[in-house]
Amino acid sequence: MALLETRDLTKEFGGLRALDGVTIGVERGELVSLIGPNGSGKSTLINVITGLLEPTAGEIRYDGTDVVDLSPYEITQLGIGRSFQTASIFPELTVRENVEVASFATEHDSFSVNFLRRRDSYDAVRDRTDEILETIELEDVAGNDAESLPYGDKRRLEVAIGLATDPDLMFMDEPTAGMSPGETRMTVSLIDDLIEEWGMTIFLVEHDMDVVFDVSDRIFTLHEGRVIARGAPEEIRDDPAVREAYLGGEEV
Ligand code: ADP
Ligand code: MG
Repeated sequence: MALLETRDLTKEFGGLRALDGVTIGVERGELVSLIGPNGSGKSTLINVITGLLEPTAGEIRYDGTDVVDLSPYEITQLGIGRSFQTASIFPELTVRENVEVASFATEHDSFSVNFLRRRDSYDAVRDRTDEILETIELEDVAGNDAESLPYGDKRRLEVAIGLATDPDLMFMDEPTAGMSPGETRMTVSLIDDLIEEWGMTIFLVEHDMDVVFDVSDRIFTLHEGRVIARGAPEEIRDDPAVREAYLGGEEV
């Protein structure tokens, strides 16, 4: 059974059908990418699966559990994480504090006094934070205010905050957007580590085709809310419908 499955997932905004009968499966340990032109529904699909938006119709199962009526918090608790937007960073807290806050929030559904009183809960959070900062290569700036970070480090801090919720499946929406080539390489190597060392399953939305073809096991292509192609990178690269819809018929 696939780790994540959607069936005929549809999302309408007023008269606009942003998702139109999306049926996909993601296997445990895979890295799948979702590509498609601007406005094709990629972010909407992530928002529906992670519970930020309610689907108009269709099913979503994670590890056999129907998650359609669950809150984003409950979905996070099941093991679905996402790399948050910069807006979720607390600019005046340090890098370390940002990861700890996310980690505390996951350990307990409120900042319960009883929870915080326990020494071992703080130790667990601190250990997980250390491990995350090392993986994300932010240990050297752990004590700096988040707002002082260069752009690429801020984007990696978003990934760190996503990891703090201890996910098995992680959604990343355009993690390399706006990054320099060096920052992009660092992010690709981070994604490799998450798969190989952390055993994570990753669902990536990415506009940089070099990154997509390099890291993906499989690729889904969305066009106007519908999956128009799915397969291994070499199949997608040669798919005429993908070229037509996504690449304007140009050579990849
Ligand atoms: P992508 O991430 O592929 O660029 P989106 O999922 O953001 O595409 O958007 C798909 C379509 O849904 C677009 O036409 C967009 O304008 C519309 N849309 C997305 N979110 C909302 C929303 N919250 N309210 C209304 N329309 C939305
Ligand atoms: Mg988007």
